[in-house]
Amino acid sequence: MRRKIVAGNWKMNKELAPGMELVTEIVASNTAQDVLKIIAPPFIHLAAVADKIKGKSDFAVAAQNCHQAENGAFTGEISAGMIASCGANYVIIGHSERRQYFGENAQLLAQKVNTALAQNLTPIFCLGEQIEQRNANTHLETVKQQLKDALFHLPAADFSKLIIAYEPVWAIGTGVTATSHQAQGMHNFIRSEINKKYGKEVSENISILYGGSCNPQNAKELFACMDVDGGLIGGASLKAADFIAIANSF
Ligand code: PEP
Repeated sequence: MRRKIVAGNWKMNKELAPGMELVTEIVASNTAQDVLKIIAPPFIHLAAVADKIKGKSDFAVAAQNCHQAENGAFTGEISAGMIASCGANYVIIGHSERRQYFGENAQLLAQKVNTALAQNLTPIFCLGEQIEQRNANTHLETVKQQLKDALFHLPAADFSKLIIAYEPVWAIGTGVTATSHQAQGMHNFIRSEINKKYGKEVSENISILYGGSCNPQNAKELFACMDVDGGLIGGASLKAADFIAIANSF
């Protein structure tokens, strides 16, 4: 179901005490009830964050990754089932840092999406082009391919459960944000590709978030775009005041 969402990806930041202070401050603040706030802390804090948001229907917890296998001899890895058992309902899959630093390709990401769905986790699936692709005007083709390769094998009923996050790689952690025109253009393109594959109902109901140097100064303009349903926030999610301000930018 399409809804307003602001998700905070802490990445590999925040030890337990400061992480808990951050969540406590966000949960205690006045954020709009109709905006779903998703907190994605490191794995090791999932249960503690889930505990902090217990009973708050406008909050949820996400993992930043999961393993593609259900379980087994994969030392150091974390399964979708384990994530769910900690009280998380969402998992970020396909973040550009996972693609870049951990070599995650479309085939692996498709497996992760399948495994997450099988454990009733909602994937927040990230895609987006590199700067070279935008400059070469191949950004639409790139994103279309990413959709096809990792997601379009899903039946409509499963695809409908996803959240998509458009994150131009050149905007992540760089301080360079996509313009609202660029964001709306790509979100509209993604929605139209989904429409072609799955039809109007699915494409109209899926939430598509923007990610890439989103902050309290630019969030309002981005979120005002017709096809932008919210944001996936990295750096600015580490400061309670910034995350709260972004959540209040609809
Ligand atoms: C991200 O990592 O998903 C992200 C959008 O980061 P930032 O907001 O820091 O650009």
